[in-house]
Amino acid sequence: MLGNISTSTMGYVWLALVAVVYLSIRIDAYSARQRSANELVVKHTNTDSLCGNLTFVTRAEWKAKPPKRRTVMLIPVAYTIIHHTDTAQCHSFEECSQDMRIFQKWHMEDRGWDDIGYNFVVGGDQRVYIGRDWDTVGTHAGSWYYNHHSQGIAIIGNYTSLLPSPGVLKVFHQLTECGVQLGYLTDRYVLRGHRDVRQLGPTSCPGDTLYAEIRRWPHYLEPKANKSTKY
Ligand SMILES: [Zn+2]
Repeated sequence: MLGNISTSTMGYVWLALVAVVYLSIRIDAYSARQRSANELVVKHTNTDSLCGNLTFVTRAEWKAKPPKRRTVMLIPVAYTIIHHTDTAQCHSFEECSQDMRIFQKWHMEDRGWDDIGYNFVVGGDQRVYIGRDWDTVGTHAGSWYYNHHSQGIAIIGNYTSLLPSPGVLKVFHQLTECGVQLGYLTDRYVLRGHRDVRQLGPTSCPGDTLYAEIRRWPHYLEPKANKSTKY
């Protein structure tokens, strides 16, 4: 009898041990997930990194409407597409936030898109307004392929006959390098202008002056189709 009790007690002890080991594994996995989430936040705020030098404006801050739908983008992507918004420049958080709401309304209601088309928008106030963010497919390129394989970044203003301010261009460069640092853009990503990739008919975007400027930047690579038209 005593032997039987000991055997069943031992059984309970083993069960308890197995449960403790199982729980500690689960807790470790949970902590690891929490750690990586915290690290991402740290990366966004660490002042030593290029991302930390940027002032991001969240969707809540610019009072975005929720998207109708969201398609997750497979990252990292190999392209950055630059746009101008073909509107007046904005110079403050209030002005640029209002522009963001206008773009979102135009894209969602008039164009029937799921959300504001761009992944990010850089304002004349040198802030980075979060559109669809790094990990959501945008609607900005006029090309299914490029929407699914690029970060679409717009600069508020019309750059047909002038350039964005040096401060705004610096923010654009820091944003793309931040994307590389966070693993959302490949380190050898290719930069193109909207006019290089649009398949729904020609566009002047990102404006002649800005387009001439980006063609001098190291990540810019002329599309093959344009090269072939030269011969
Ligand atoms: Zn464009």
